[in-house]
Amino acid sequence: MSDFFDGAEKRVVVVGGGFSGVAFAIQLIRRAQARVHVSIVEPGQFLGHGLAYSAADPDHRLNGPINSMVIDPEYTDELLEWCQARRIIENDFEAHVPSGHVFLRRSVIGEYLSDQVFRHANDERFGSTIEHIRDVAIDVQKEPNGFLVKTSFCGDQIADMVILATGNPTPGLRKPFSPEHALHPRIIANPLVAGCLDKIPAGARVLVVGSGLTALDQLSTLLRRGHIGKLVAVSRRGLRPHAQSPEIRGIVSPRMPPTPILNKIDGPIPEFIAREPANVRRWCRALRREISSVVRAGGSWYEPFDAVRDVVWKLWPQLPLAEQQRFLRKLRVFWDIHRFRTPPMNDDMVRQAEELGRVQYLTARVIGVTTGAILNPVQVELEVRSGQTDRHEFDFVVNCTGFDSDDTTSRNPVLANLEQRKILRRHGTGMGYQVSDRCEAMDSTGRANPNLRIIGPPTAGTFGDPLGAIYITAQVKRLMPSAIEALGFPVIS
Ligand SMILES: Cc1cc2nc3c(=O)[nH]c(=O)nc-3n(C[C@H](O)[C@H](O)[C@H](O)COP(=O)(O)OP(=O)(O)OC[C@H]3O[C@@H](n4cnc5c(N)ncnc54)[C@H](O)[C@@H]3O)c2cc1C
Repeated sequence: MSDFFDGAEKRVVVVGGGFSGVAFAIQLIRRAQARVHVSIVEPGQFLGHGLAYSAADPDHRLNGPINSMVIDPEYTDELLEWCQARRIIENDFEAHVPSGHVFLRRSVIGEYLSDQVFRHANDERFGSTIEHIRDVAIDVQKEPNGFLVKTSFCGDQIADMVILATGNPTPGLRKPFSPEHALHPRIIANPLVAGCLDKIPAGARVLVVGSGLTALDQLSTLLRRGHIGKLVAVSRRGLRPHAQSPEIRGIVSPRMPPTPILNKIDGPIPEFIAREPANVRRWCRALRREISSVVRAGGSWYEPFDAVRDVVWKLWPQLPLAEQQRFLRKLRVFWDIHRFRTPPMNDDMVRQAEELGRVQYLTARVIGVTTGAILNPVQVELEVRSGQTDRHEFDFVVNCTGFDSDDTTSRNPVLANLEQRKILRRHGTGMGYQVSDRCEAMDSTGRANPNLRIIGPPTAGTFGDPLGAIYITAQVKRLMPSAIEALGFPVIS
């Protein structure tokens, strides 16, 4: 036990109240053996919703089964119990797949996370509290005894520790779209805004740009509404996310009892990778070899792939920057379609529509976009692989090309200010910030600050893939003992 704890309440300000901020707050309240006040600065109405779990559409589901959603590694069945108490699973007839796995609606996760905050808002053991400050943090200033978190309207928040949990950047248009196109009523630049498809009439010709999971969500929404107009999804390489493994879908039985993901995340690097030097080409070759051998033995590519996926946080930091950049340039798209898999019900819905000719997937590049008056359709020029170009007319265009990575920093005032004052250091890959293995923010000289931490997606440059909820939960668990220590609380081992 540490001997410098003075018994006073400590104040932690968490900037961002999405999944990461909430997972941190809950784990801290549960682990700290002393009184802590957590202020979560979040402009949204509900804590825990963030970008992913504010989804209002019932067809927008988790892309993994219920056991992939955990906020505290020590209570892995909490969500299931919470759902059972509310009969959520019984009442959601489409949530089940033949294997017995359940794919919840993302809106349920939003409600669950909000409820967890509510239940921990006044913790009885030590009198710890959580408060929602509905505002935007614009800066963090160092003070002799901690920090001042400056917000737009609610004044300055005093903090002993600041956690930056600002999450994913918002989706943005890519070239040849221009920033002005985001304002055009026929172009939906951010498909994660609830109700953004409401203005699309059933007969409209719709171009979905992108063919990943967000495109699948948007197509599901339109199909469920009985859309009868032309639906075209276009992507440069024509790649689409893979389905969940045959074991999860219930097409075959598992070959062996599944290991809980959290154990795999904490477990050793698989032998077939560990024996190779830190080199993307060598690791890919080793993974391919392992896949061939597992497939020969009656398994599928999912087993070895997932074994690597779960320890990416250990592998990625071993790679030199040039290797990381090479991976992002050349291999990431291929990695992503294996890594981010489809919820089976959405996959089925869209594939059936495709067979009926209601949805068309095209491999082509958008090379030109012309908008006119509001009543006029959008003219889109597409180039197929052979180089041939065609002009098409669409009534609406829905952008599903992913996040605008520049937005992570430059458009978020708190990050931009900290970066400008060299308190944060951008990661060399451009994906978020440089942090220590305990998520301590590093300044421009490389010095880590134990009282200023960054969690979740803005640590992608350092850890490769802190993106799925369970990987964020595991990240928070790893940093928690050092955060508790940095607050001067007793650390119970
Ligand atoms: C559409 C979508 C679907 C996903 N589906 C799944 C899934 O099925 N399964 C899974 O495991 N993972 C999924 N993920 C990934 C994962 O769960 C998220 O990346 C995770 O929720 C990240 O949480 P976060 O809190 O870090 O970020 P976010 O959800 O982006 O939340 C960040 C919050 O910070 C706030 N914020 C930002 N800047 C400031 C500021 N300056 N001041 C105050 N507040 C600020 C924002 O308002 C926002 O609410 C999905 C992600 C997305 C985007």
